Amino acid sequence: MNILLSGFNGKQKIYKISCDKNRATEYTSQNYNVLLLQSNNAYLLPENNSFVLTEEEFNYLKSLGDDACIEINDNGRIASVFGKEYDNTLYITDKCNSNCIMCPMAEPIRKNGHTVPFEILKELVRYMPSNMEHLTITGGEPFYIKEQLFDILKDLKNHNKVWSYLLLSNGRIFANKDYCLKFAAVVPEDFLVGIPIHGPNAEIHDAISQCPGSFKQTTSGIHNLLATHKMSVEIRIVVNRINAPHLKDIAILIADQFPGVDSVKIMGMEMLGNAIVNSESVWIPYDEAFTYMKPTIDYLVEKAIDVAIYNFPLCFINKSYWHLCANSITSYKIKYLDECVSCIEKSACGGIFTGTDKYLKGKVKPIIR
Ligand code: SF4
Repeated sequence: MNILLSGFNGKQKIYKISCDKNRATEYTSQNYNVLLLQSNNAYLLPENNSFVLTEEEFNYLKSLGDDACIEINDNGRIASVFGKEYDNTLYITDKCNSNCIMCPMAEPIRKNGHTVPFEILKELVRYMPSNMEHLTITGGEPFYIKEQLFDILKDLKNHNKVWSYLLLSNGRIFANKDYCLKFAAVVPEDFLVGIPIHGPNAEIHDAISQCPGSFKQTTSGIHNLLATHKMSVEIRIVVNRINAPHLKDIAILIADQFPGVDSVKIMGMEMLGNAIVNSESVWIPYDEAFTYMKPTIDYLVEKAIDVAIYNFPLCFINKSYWHLCANSITSYKIKYLDECVSCIEKSACGGIFTGTDKYLKGKVKPIIR
C-alpha cells in the first residue's frame, strides 16, 4: 500500500471512515476515532482536527465505503485498510522461522523486521466492519506471534467480521498436533490455510527454505490439518530454477499423500529481497517454467485436484490453460511493460509483479489477433 494523505495533520491512529455526521457521532460514542468526509475536507473526531483532501484522496476514501477503517501513520501514509468489498490483508509480522531462497523479503528484514504489536492487531479487528467478504492473514510467518494469533482469530469469529479467510503460513507449526487441535477450535468458518511445498523431498524443499527439517514439519503439518475436522488446505508451489524440474514430482507427492487438499496454486516469483540476491540460482524464464508447469497441471487435473496459475502473465501460458490463470497480483504491485499497450488481452492479463518486470524486459509477447 502506498497511499499518502498529503494534508494529514493528526496522530498515528486507526480511524473509522464515515460520510455521515450522525453515524460519525455514533462511532465516537462507541469509542472509535473517526475520519468524517465532508466536501473535500476530512474531520478527525473526536479531536475535531480537519485537513483538506485532494479530489483523488477524497474519492479514494469515499470508495472504501461507510464503515471501512484505515490505519494512518504520523506522516499521513495509509498503513492498512479494511472495507466490506476490499482486498483485505491483516499483516502480522515481517519475521519468519524459514528463510526461503526466493522470498521477496530480504533476510535482514525477516530476521529483525517489524511485528505489529498485539494491542494494535486487536484494535484493527475491533475497527474492521462486520461481514467483510474476504481477509488474508499473512506475514512473514503469522504464527511468529504464537498463541496470540488464536486470540485474534477468536475476535474475528465472535464478531462475525469476515465471510472467508486465507491464512498464509509455512505450515511448520502444525507438525505439533496439540497446536493444530487448538487452532481448529478457534478458526472461523470458511477458513483456508495456504502452505508452500518447495520440493518433492527434504533435500530440495529444505534447500529452498534454507531450514533443515522443514520438509518433515511442513508435510506433517499438512497431514495434521487435513486430519482435523473442518480444516482446508491449499498447497502453493512457487516455481523457481531449483524446483522447476521437480514440479511433477511435487504433484505426485500431493496426489499420493494429500488428495484431500482444497487446491494447488502454481505461482510465479516476486523478484524482490532474497529472490534478487539469489537470482542466479532461482530465476527461471517464464516460457521455460511453463514447460515444467504443463505436465504438472495435466497430472493434477487427471487426479481431480483443483489447480490454478498465479502471477504468470498470459503471454507465457499456452492459451488452452488461460482459464486456470488468476489475476492474483495485488493491484498496487502490478506492472505492465511498454509492449503490453498493443496486447489485446491486457484487460484479461493479471500483469507482472513490480520487481519481476525487469527480468521480462523484451520477453513479453503481446497477443495480437
Ligand atoms: S503482453 Fe503484457 S498484457 Fe499481454 S499477456 Fe503479456 S504481459 Fe499480459
